Amino acid sequence: MVDMTLTPQQQQLQQVAREFTAEHIIPVAEEWDARGEFHEFILAEVKKAGLNCMAIPVEYGGPGYDAVTQAVVVEEWGYGCAAFATTLGGNGLSSYPLAIAGTEEQKKLYYGRLVAGGMGGFALTEPGAGSDAGACATTAKLEGNEWVLNGTKCFATTCGYADIMVIFASTDPGKGVKGLSAFIVEKEREGVIIGAVEHKMGIRSSNTVEIILKNVRIPQDHLLGKEGEGMKLAMKTLDMARPIVASMAVGIARRALEAALTYAKEFLDINGKPIGTHQAVAFKLADMATQVEAARQLVRNALRLKDAGVPYTKEAAMAKTYATDTAMRVTAEAVELMGHYGYSRDSFVEKLMRDAKVTQIYEGTNQVQRIVISGLLLNSK
Ligand SMILES: Cc1cc2nc3c(=O)[nH]c(=O)nc-3n(C[C@H](O)[C@H](O)[C@H](O)COP(=O)(O)OP(=O)(O)OC[C@H]3O[C@@H](n4cnc5c(N)ncnc54)[C@H](O)[C@@H]3O)c2cc1C
Repeated sequence: MVDMTLTPQQQQLQQVAREFTAEHIIPVAEEWDARGEFHEFILAEVKKAGLNCMAIPVEYGGPGYDAVTQAVVVEEWGYGCAAFATTLGGNGLSSYPLAIAGTEEQKKLYYGRLVAGGMGGFALTEPGAGSDAGACATTAKLEGNEWVLNGTKCFATTCGYADIMVIFASTDPGKGVKGLSAFIVEKEREGVIIGAVEHKMGIRSSNTVEIILKNVRIPQDHLLGKEGEGMKLAMKTLDMARPIVASMAVGIARRALEAALTYAKEFLDINGKPIGTHQAVAFKLADMATQVEAARQLVRNALRLKDAGVPYTKEAAMAKTYATDTAMRVTAEAVELMGHYGYSRDSFVEKLMRDAKVTQIYEGTNQVQRIVISGLLLNSK
């Protein structure tokens, strides 16, 4: 159905993304999930369809889509396979800090690599520093005109084959978050070692790795933004990324809702009536559909604010929390409604439920989102 709240260009891209998903993602998603494998050839198809690097401005070779348009496409990716959506999301995460703090030279160089088909990653998390990024133990020391990075990052999406990574390190370890700085690190730098590959509950075909940095030397101009302002940059980046993850969650939930609806219409109870004729089931479907639509509107609200250039941190966190909690709830309801079939690996809804869980955790857990929302509420004048 055409979404009349979207512009003609957004409707058209939604259709392109929908067809892409049906042709390239859905047919392989379950097999790739079972094997825990991602096949990079699909990225060339994304590029061919004009749907890669959506946030990169036209003057640097990207399509420069506004945030609402990106979210419309990402909802389709989430519908098809959240691991695929996460892979491209990792790419987006590496381009946002460049948009926020990149110099002209940095933009030309690194956007250039991404637009040419290279992948990007974003590495903030460490074994001892997740929600508390100030506990970052990775260090960057200036020696002559080079930064020397040492430490270990973990749970870094797409970094197993990323060409460039935005890596956060402490340039002043005594200062916690105020000592954090961001750097652009190319995969070919000596001392960049890709460590353990994570075996995950969901988004199994998305690549998640440990990055070990052993005396990695990078030129001074690889500092992104100002020294000591890495935390601010990370937070602004996550503001941009959270509604996009939320949109992926809407896609996951929409798929689960559709599966549950079909089942409720087709599966017959002991008296030969579709189970959807029972009010208990029908009301469940009504609640699921309402929550999916509410989540979508929260996403679009946050991103319309972003596109209008007004503050949207609170709305981004609200969208992320509500949409990802919705994805978890709706996928669990779909599994339950479909009984043993829902629980079986023969149905794809169990994958949706496994995939939904991570959306409540990454890009800042939903507890962290509630800290952001309540902090802004309590401190507003
Ligand atoms: C599949 C996957 C991919 C990821 N990809 C990336 C990536 O590309 N780049 C990257 O940098 N990171 C990535 N992450 C890491 C992710 O961002 C972190 O997992 C997340 O920020 C939470 O950190 P943590 O896992 O260390 O949990 P912790 O911070 O240890 O939190 C544990 C629990 O305590 C709660 N908690 C912590 N502090 C508070 C508080 N103050 N108040 C209330 N509750 C609190 C949390 O909400 C959580 O429930 C990824 C994670 C996963 C699972």
